[in-house]
Amino acid sequence: MSELTTLIQMLEQVQLTDSPDERTMRLSTSSFNSRQAYGMLMDSSIADGNGLRIWKSRMPNKVKVFAWLFFRDRLSTRVNLHRKHVQPVDTCSRCGTSSESWQHAFFHCPYTAELWSRIGVDISNVQEMEDLWSAHHPAAVCSATGQMSS
Ligand SMILES: [Zn+2]
Repeated sequence: MSELTTLIQMLEQVQLTDSPDERTMRLSTSSFNSRQAYGMLMDSSIADGNGLRIWKSRMPNKVKVFAWLFFRDRLSTRVNLHRKHVQPVDTCSRCGTSSESWQHAFFHCPYTAELWSRIGVDISNVQEMEDLWSAHHPAAVCSATGQMSS
């Protein structure tokens, strides 16, 4: 009910007109265009380090989008779905022992930890998302940037 009240208050401030809709970019005063948006994604002074690594990598686009959502904590983990009132509980559906945050789903869930172990990637020092870029991996496994170890 509080969300609905807030939404109604916000909508009361909107003044609709007959003029066409206008799309703008928050970091620019000009109208939106994809060329400028792409340029801003690649601008190292604006984009974060994770974004630059992801978008400049040689991974397929669907993997890039997944990685982008991962680093923004926008994947549909149970914690995120529960926060949006989509899931009644946030418990991990695989192990049932913990909340399914990104940390649990990708590193601490016993099933996930076993997967990392089997492919030889050492995630013991991964505490933050950024730690993934420097996680030790075997030579036969590509790094997150698509480079093979030498
Ligand atoms: Zn789990």
